[in-house]
Amino acid sequence: MFDKILIANRGEIALRVIRACQEMGIRTLAVYSEADVDSLHVQRADEAICIGPAASMESYLKIDRIISAAEVGDVDAIHPGYGFLAENAHFAEICENCNIKFIGPNPAAIRSMADKAVARETARKAGVPVVPGSEGPVETEAECLRVAKKLGYPLIIKAVAGGGGRGMREAHNDVSLVKAFHTARMEAERAFNDPSVYVEKLIVNPRHIEIQIIADSHGHIVHLGERDCSIQRKHQKIIEECPSPFPGMTDDLRKKMGKAAVKLAENVKYENAGTVEFLMDEKGNYFFIEMNTRIQVEHAVTEEVYGVDLVKEQIRVAAGEKLSFEQKKLEARGVAIEVRINAEDPYENFRPSPGMVELFYAPGGYGVRVDSHVYSGYVIPPHYDSMIGKLIAFGKTRREALDRMTRMLDETIIRGIKTTIPFCKSVLLEPDFRRGRFSTAFVDQILTKKRA
Ligand code: ADP
Repeated sequence: MFDKILIANRGEIALRVIRACQEMGIRTLAVYSEADVDSLHVQRADEAICIGPAASMESYLKIDRIISAAEVGDVDAIHPGYGFLAENAHFAEICENCNIKFIGPNPAAIRSMADKAVARETARKAGVPVVPGSEGPVETEAECLRVAKKLGYPLIIKAVAGGGGRGMREAHNDVSLVKAFHTARMEAERAFNDPSVYVEKLIVNPRHIEIQIIADSHGHIVHLGERDCSIQRKHQKIIEECPSPFPGMTDDLRKKMGKAAVKLAENVKYENAGTVEFLMDEKGNYFFIEMNTRIQVEHAVTEEVYGVDLVKEQIRVAAGEKLSFEQKKLEARGVAIEVRINAEDPYENFRPSPGMVELFYAPGGYGVRVDSHVYSGYVIPPHYDSMIGKLIAFGKTRREALDRMTRMLDETIIRGIKTTIPFCKSVLLEPDFRRGRFSTAFVDQILTKKRA
């Protein structure tokens, strides 16, 4: 087992990894930017090294500084968390070359999933159904229109290097397609330094359902059920649950999707934790959209339902150990739901709302989990993602989990900034949400209703 791990991240996920390490007797080295001097991950780690100014490009994305910190701190491994360098194959490669274990898949597996057009092709070859779309990226308006003619509308243009819902535009006719093509390319260039886009059929009112997998280096790959992440704003998740309340989500379908995810992972010689994402139409047909080669924000709901600490497993398998559980022994033991707390104003188009958290009071009690780096007096810097924590409720039944979450949202106090809590509370009270009848369009539908 490792003696010391560097956590190349910040916020709640850095804290999450530190917590796992502490329970495993592993020493931790935090890295931080000048804006994060007072951050909890810095305080809770055994050691901390400042790696640069606030801007991510100058700190959390600066590979040479992180590797230098790892060398100075003499760590055995680096946990990248999610975001930042977590899906950067080049970074994983440099770690390998410096004899530092990257806690994640090998660079080739990361690469095979990083380009979404290539990932679609890989999934198709593995026999996993993909959303109908273009073969590879589309370079010109004319090519785009040719694809449209073949597939028919509606369509969605997506960035090959996409992430966080950016570089994505819907199109319903030739005119909007041409416009969408150019806006998506521009947005992709700005966000990912790569303008390449591809075209997919737009699935109308789909559910976003994803399968958690984890693999060790001894040839074991397991799937740990699904998460329903259909409650999204701007194509980004805000509420997730396990299992999916979709009435069509039977044990058979779950197994089938689990097997498809494992097959894909096998095909790219996958190791460590990953998520295979699908869109599901109203009939229960599912289509691969992408694979995230890292731990995800919403991993906690799977942990609660299956009783597995995924971050500890990640560390164990990276150290060469076998997975501590087998597929056939895994059993869902209830329902978990997660609400993300974002420092945003939900009624001003989810505009970020950084600043001083004057008071923070976290909910407690039976079945409650709070993963957050916030404390009273903490100043949220404006430079990073607006997610400041997650509330997770576990219950024997969905109803119990939802009632518990409603109570948790009532109990939480955050003063000084705007958060998504009031909005999430209103989602939880929607009769259709409680009935499990919702798609990725649900948030927009509620907001339209509220405006009317
Ligand atoms: P990102 O990597 O930016 O998160 P994804 O490919 O994972 O992008 O898609 C994010 C979300 O965008 C999905 O959960 C879904 O709501 C929407 N989306 C993506 N592709 C499609 C599609 N073909 N049809 C309908 N919605 C889509």
